[in-house]
Amino acid sequence: QSYFEGVQQAPPDSILGITEGFLADKSPNKLNLGVGAYRTEEGKPLVLSAVLKAQRIVVDDRSRNKARARDEYQPIGGNAQFCALSAALAYGPDFDGLRDGRVAVVQTLSGTGALAVGGAFLARHYAASKQVFVPNPTWGNHHGVFGSVGLTVKTYRYYHAATRALDYEGMLSDLRAAEPGAVVLLHACAHNPTGVDPTPDQWRGILAVVQERGLMPFFDSAYQGFASGDLDADAGALRMFASARRRDGSPQEMLLAQSFAKNMGLYGERVGALSVVTQSPEVRKRVDSQLKVAIRVMYSNPPIHGAAIAAMVMANPALSAEWQAELAGMAGRIKDMRRALVDALAAAGAPGNWDHITSQGAQAWLAA
Ligand code: PLP
Repeated sequence: QSYFEGVQQAPPDSILGITEGFLADKSPNKLNLGVGAYRTEEGKPLVLSAVLKAQRIVVDDRSRNKARARDEYQPIGGNAQFCALSAALAYGPDFDGLRDGRVAVVQTLSGTGALAVGGAFLARHYAASKQVFVPNPTWGNHHGVFGSVGLTVKTYRYYHAATRALDYEGMLSDLRAAEPGAVVLLHACAHNPTGVDPTPDQWRGILAVVQERGLMPFFDSAYQGFASGDLDADAGALRMFASARRRDGSPQEMLLAQSFAKNMGLYGERVGALSVVTQSPEVRKRVDSQLKVAIRVMYSNPPIHGAAIAAMVMANPALSAEWQAELAGMAGRIKDMRRALVDALAAAGAPGNWDHITSQGAQAWLAA
């Protein structure tokens, strides 16, 4: 008699389930649209040339420095250079919060790890509320990750099925009804799964309600550079929030989960960062210490390799320029695919209006 006899079968992950079905399907024309990974014209993963070059440099460097014990543990917060570069990439190098040393940054196991560490930190040390509001719909794992650390997950209206657009009024009214201090999960750009992002004007309205209600923004940035092809434009919303001042003049606080899975094609290397914008270096220091406690009990410290590659790409001007050109290429091709899909639907005589496919992912921040 097994002690594990009572273990119930968990439902399969809905996205992984599609991949299993896909692998089992014998059709030569099959396409897996379930998993959020970029594919080339040939349906293959794209290895970014800037990332490949950075990897070669990192590997050479690590073999040369064998004597320096290259495989020793990293610090709990990970690669400090990677953390600084990630924060600058998201917030912009001129962000006063970085200059003033009031942003805590740690390396995480990709975006999911950043959300998990951020969630654990909030559950233990954020006194204002234990509720986190996520959009309806959202990336399914938001519910699981925040629920598993003991936060109460609630939803706010986001997608309006009838108009296939943002339910802006519904969103604002749900946020206005949230308890003061509640955490609000916001997709920084390229909302998953709808592809619908607020316009800059709508973001201003969302920020106003967040401040009015005293909510805590938690940005999830899994696609910086993918929405518009421009890293700065895709960080427009989170930068608006990070640079905002509250009515009393104090800096807006917030959290940010960053993933380099998609924009560097480093999916399996698990490269990410969590940052917390505080109001002073003194608070930043205490927050930083608690982020490290959260990490220490989960996995002790993060892996070396992927973060070293990402840091090399961001630090080296030539590699960084090459990366950004490749990123623009991927974003442009995604846009072309949307156009081609709409054209093909029209050519096939599909009933209804499919304009939302091309209007989603609008490049509002480029124009703004
Ligand atoms: N957040 C969103 C909205 C996502 O779509 C994803 C991945 O699909 C993630 C976070 C986390 O991805 P990863 O843990 O691979 O960085």
